[in-house]
Amino acid sequence: MIQDICEVYHNEYKEQKPKSSDYCMFVKDRSVLLKKQEDNITFFTYGEVSNYVKIEDIIYLFAIGDGENQKKYFLCRSMSLPDELLQGYTYENQNVFRTAKPKEQAFAGITACQLANWYENTKYCGHCGTELVHDHKERMMRCPSCNAMHYPKISPAVIIALTDKNRILMTKYAGRDYKKYALIAGFTEIGETVEETVKREVMEEVGLRVKNIRYYKSQPWSFSDTLLMGFFCELDGEDTIRMDEEELSVAEWVNREDMTVTFDDVSLTNEMMIAFKENKYQY
Ligand SMILES: [Zn+2]
Repeated sequence: MIQDICEVYHNEYKEQKPKSSDYCMFVKDRSVLLKKQEDNITFFTYGEVSNYVKIEDIIYLFAIGDGENQKKYFLCRSMSLPDELLQGYTYENQNVFRTAKPKEQAFAGITACQLANWYENTKYCGHCGTELVHDHKERMMRCPSCNAMHYPKISPAVIIALTDKNRILMTKYAGRDYKKYALIAGFTEIGETVEETVKREVMEEVGLRVKNIRYYKSQPWSFSDTLLMGFFCELDGEDTIRMDEEELSVAEWVNREDMTVTFDDVSLTNEMMIAFKENKYQY
């Protein structure tokens, strides 16, 4: 999956300045400034841009790796690089990180994108409207007027592999660019457990009851500010699908041997479908 990188990801916030070999990320509207050769991507280092950026516009994001090989990533919130330096660099939409290599840089890119988006949308206090300031100890924006604390937004959501003996319920979304098969998924609402989300989403989207709900794995999915939690569960009773046509264009039972999914090493949805197809998941 996209977060399964070889090096350790350190996400604890610590106020600090970049070294010249650290990466400087420029992000706007879910696009990241990068250099791309086929699928290989790279970002500017601080050394390359230090003459053109103000140190007060730079925020520490995270580090990947340990010891001498550790790379730190910083967000740069001003952009005034000269044209000759930008040679070969373009702003690429976040979807590039689904296939970009090396994997560490793809994970860094999408994670930086989520953090940048949060900073961009967290400039003023939602309670009193005052301009926020960064806290010195943790990743949090504080209101100097009313002291309200604003933390990064992560929305919990579930992915559901609903099975019935040798078959699994596969879906396709309605009205989205993503045309491949998916599993039922949905956001957790306030006041419910994630297991209740599983039951509710299955009932809402396909009109079926479930039993034997089992947690599988989770995945940070920065493309939509989400923390995904995967569950397997079994059909309880009647198998007739009543599809929500606003959410889905396809919902059908597919036999294990008829599944056309291929391994992509990116999404939890894909891993769960492959686990069922290859009969590797046991309740
Ligand atoms: Zn306030």
